[in-house]
Amino acid sequence: MTVVTRFAPSPTGFLHIGGARTALFNWLYAKHTGGKMLLRIEDTDRERSTEAAIQAILDGLTWLGLDWDGEVVYQFSRAARHREVAESLLAAGRAYYCYATPQELEEMRETARREGRPMRYDGRWRDRDPSEAPAGVKPVIRLKAPQDGETVVEDAVQGRVVWQNKDLDDLVLLRSDGTPTYMLAVVVDDHDMNVTHVIRGDDHLTNAARQTQIYQALDWAVPNMSHIPLIHGPDGAKLSKRHGALGIEAYRSMGYLPAALRNYLVRLGWSHGDQEMFSTQEMIDAFDLGSIGRSPARFDFAKLENLNGHYMRQTPDEELVAALEDLLPEIGEERGIGRKFAPVLREKLVAAMPGLKERAKTLIELLDSAYYLYAPRPLQLDEKAGVLLKDGRERLQGIVEKLAGLNDWTAEGVEGVVRQHAEATGVKLGQVAQPLRAALTGRATSPGLFDVMVVLGREETLERLRDAL
Ligand code: GLU
Repeated sequence: MTVVTRFAPSPTGFLHIGGARTALFNWLYAKHTGGKMLLRIEDTDRERSTEAAIQAILDGLTWLGLDWDGEVVYQFSRAARHREVAESLLAAGRAYYCYATPQELEEMRETARREGRPMRYDGRWRDRDPSEAPAGVKPVIRLKAPQDGETVVEDAVQGRVVWQNKDLDDLVLLRSDGTPTYMLAVVVDDHDMNVTHVIRGDDHLTNAARQTQIYQALDWAVPNMSHIPLIHGPDGAKLSKRHGALGIEAYRSMGYLPAALRNYLVRLGWSHGDQEMFSTQEMIDAFDLGSIGRSPARFDFAKLENLNGHYMRQTPDEELVAALEDLLPEIGEERGIGRKFAPVLREKLVAAMPGLKERAKTLIELLDSAYYLYAPRPLQLDEKAGVLLKDGRERLQGIVEKLAGLNDWTAEGVEGVVRQHAEATGVKLGQVAQPLRAALTGRATSPGLFDVMVVLGREETLERLRDAL
């Protein structure tokens, strides 16, 4: 049997970070088993589905490096097939027309509320002859669900989950306007797409029971089910806006690398011993459904940042510069860089990257820490740098001339001049280096000062010093 998984997002917003994890798990399981992952856009809710949301989902998956097999399936385009299946159930006596009016349903809801239980349709049209149908009421089609016994979901993550059928009512398959319900559409699509494994959030666990009843009514095999616990915030409450960004594109904008986010997401709810770092191939090799935990994982922003810093340090310099450049259309303008790096700046960035990437945790921090490379003169000093320069300006008197006289503009060469200057004026190296760094970078911290001076070059270094002094 070839494993077929699917990711089935509803295009009503961005690609949620939890959805991205679901997609990743489906992708990993398909890759692990040599199977396929399909993508189905569940756009049956016409009011809430948007083109922009579809694009955000496709872009988000692509950015994260998750591809899918075959063409994207759009659920709405399959409505005729959904209707056909509902009608086949009707013909087989496993579904029925229900003419209950909105008012009758409201009464049932009211009774349930009074009795403090969830609303259950009471089955009043289950065995009634449609010839008794009231004039002018368009019926819905309901499933003739079993009334006794149990419905069981053998879940690969949750274990055996049992519902009493008396607690599940006859759900609607087709609305009175002929449109299918989500419950019907998912079953028909998963069946027609030959899906063997459904892996999704555990907010769908009760749906799994209802869908199982539809499968059984159709005499179709129920796919293997895995319901993964939702992601919670650091405080243990379901992840929400107040914890931080929910859309995957926000993580891109905050400067995370897709590989780092993948590694972070795979560990949210899945484990392999206590291994934290996984290359993509390692994830694929190790991933299985049995190692998905049953309790909700907590999103830890600090951990994600650290992981990202780690990935950045491992990324080749040229690639990091390319990743920065990808972000420029969003953040380049406001930093005065524009939408692309000028060739000279690009060269400087590559040269400075070994020092820069040691500290930064995100691409944004990385770009900001490279401020000294693209800062227009005269530099805007931040507060700390301003203080350092003010306190140390005196100690730099005469250094410009000494540097200007240096023949070999190398790290060793400039270091020699700066050391000699400190000695000659009777202060420690740091007391010269700090105001020098402030004047040259506009910041209180930077990569190694002498490397900075080399990357800036003689002219720019001297000009900046003249500006500051
Ligand atoms: N469209 C549903 C959602 O976005 C998922 C349905 C499913 O995975 O079965 O929550």
